[in-house]
Amino acid sequence: MAVYTLPDLPYDYSALEPAISGSIIELHHGKHHNAYVTGANTVLEQLAEAREAGSYGSIVGLEKTLAFHLAGHTLHSIYWTNLSPDGGDRPEGALGEAIDRDFGGFEKFRAHLTAATNTVQGSGWGALSYDSLSGRLLVEQIQDHQANHSPSTTPLLVFDIWEHAFYLQYKNVKADYVEALWTIVDWGNVAARLAAARRG
Ligand code: MN
Repeated sequence: MAVYTLPDLPYDYSALEPAISGSIIELHHGKHHNAYVTGANTVLEQLAEAREAGSYGSIVGLEKTLAFHLAGHTLHSIYWTNLSPDGGDRPEGALGEAIDRDFGGFEKFRAHLTAATNTVQGSGWGALSYDSLSGRLLVEQIQDHQANHSPSTTPLLVFDIWEHAFYLQYKNVKADYVEALWTIVDWGNVAARLAAARRG
């Protein structure tokens, strides 16, 4: 029995067009995200075998691989629900107020997250996160899936800037992909994630 499972998309593959093509979403969800789910389940089995055998010669690689796949599964699961064909515009209510307070306004936040996403070196993510230690919002620039972010933070809005997320449609012009992402952000989903994070 698999511990982790691939969640269904909350919309059809082509629902986010023209911002993101249906063929990208189909591959991204069915192949890339699914590989992280499968990878996380496989490494759990390998860790169980290591415990059974009392053999920890591969422990460093296994723990690194667990973090990579499990964080990949987690971030993609958030990414799908962050986006909606009815998205765009800007947040209001408690989320809008927190953004104003912590970033000095929506436009400054938008520029900050855009810059953090566009300048990822190699593969990674730009993220708006809630930091439970300070109670404030942060922009994080995540390397791969699991590096360069703090355990105190909960991701609320994540922009996948791995090449598989945009290359079939945008080629090397990743800035146009990130601009398109802003037109499909489901702020209701981001606001709900902030409320849940604040409740702990
Ligand atoms: Mn991805």
